Amino acid sequence: MRPFVIRRPKSLDEAQDAARERPQDGVLRAGGIDLIDRMKEGIDAPAELVELRGLADETGELMRALGPAGDGMQVGALVTLAQLAAHEGFGAARAALREAAGSAATPTIRNAATLGGNLLQRPRCWYFRHADLVCLKKGGTACLAVSGENKFHAILGGGPSFIVHPSTLACALTALDAQVEVRGAEARTIAIGELFLTPKQDARREHTLEPGEVLVRAILPKAGDDQRSGYAAVKEKQSHDWPMAEAAVKMSLQSGVMTDVRVVLGHVAPIPWRSREAEAALEGKPASAALFAEAAKAALAEARPLRDNAYKIPLAQGLLREVLHRVAGVPLPE
Ligand SMILES: Cc1cc2nc3c(=O)[nH]c(=O)nc-3n(C[C@H](O)[C@H](O)[C@H](O)COP(=O)(O)OP(=O)(O)OC[C@H]3O[C@@H](n4cnc5c(N)ncnc54)[C@H](O)[C@@H]3O)c2cc1C
Repeated sequence: MRPFVIRRPKSLDEAQDAARERPQDGVLRAGGIDLIDRMKEGIDAPAELVELRGLADETGELMRALGPAGDGMQVGALVTLAQLAAHEGFGAARAALREAAGSAATPTIRNAATLGGNLLQRPRCWYFRHADLVCLKKGGTACLAVSGENKFHAILGGGPSFIVHPSTLACALTALDAQVEVRGAEARTIAIGELFLTPKQDARREHTLEPGEVLVRAILPKAGDDQRSGYAAVKEKQSHDWPMAEAAVKMSLQSGVMTDVRVVLGHVAPIPWRSREAEAALEGKPASAALFAEAAKAALAEARPLRDNAYKIPLAQGLLREVLHRVAGVPLPE
């Protein structure tokens, strides 16, 4: 690993000045789980890390905030996954975020990993993470997963790169219609769906932040008393592993009728995959096992598996059905 220095700014201005001086990706450090991995793997070699955790100004406070904000809720970018998993203020309405945070990675990682870093971490594709391979994301001419080992790659929305988006929190936050607040030359608030880039938009980057821009917090909109949500993942092993598929669901439920439905799949596409087909199948209808089966089928109808990952289709369908049943309170058929 290349030697590096750590700067510990006390204010956002200082952090941004430092980050702008060296605009290569990865200069800002939060929990450091992804960034230090990339440095150890030899795919990033910044000479300087700008530590975000010491910010002591008003922005630093916002980045550590967790709780009500106006009609909704705020989750600061420096809030750890462990704090999210233990937070009791999410209720049934926003349970998806608590469940997602508690399911990601390992207890040790969750103690350090932050919301901001989790959303902005880079893909775990084994070709991208190999120092000696020049895949499409690193300036090569092809996604090496297409002709290579592609068991964990995308079945939806792939091409020209077939990574899956690594962030578990992104899946839940997309289902919860979150926005993120970003501060750079100007402050801006963007819908979570606009934070992520498809490989067709830009095969080399996964998000729309500019160098030096800092993600300050996520904002969750007002949730009615009848809103509920949930998240689940399937992994090869239950500890110390990445999901093969994830599902997050949000809905309002009144007398058994579902409205304002969001269905998001994770680890099946290069971005958190919102299934508008599944949402349309469910919206305004009474919750039932038959309808959930139909919605799950619709969610995967456009899937185009590679050689080794067709298994993700029934896996994601089954997982989505399970989450829909749980969130809507409809018992799973025997
Ligand atoms: C064995 C293992 C299993 C894992 N399983 C999962 C899993 O199931 N689900 C999952 O989601 N993740 C998983 N992870 C990944 C882990 O959760 C992430 O690496 C971690 O969440 C990243 O957060 P961080 O705070 O450490 O980010 P950092 O490593 O500090 O930062 C990541 C990137 O984001 C940038 N950044 C960080 N914060 C900001 C900010 N506020 N503004 C602008 N840029 C910023 C950094 O510059 C860097 O490029 C796993 C990791 C391991 C090792």
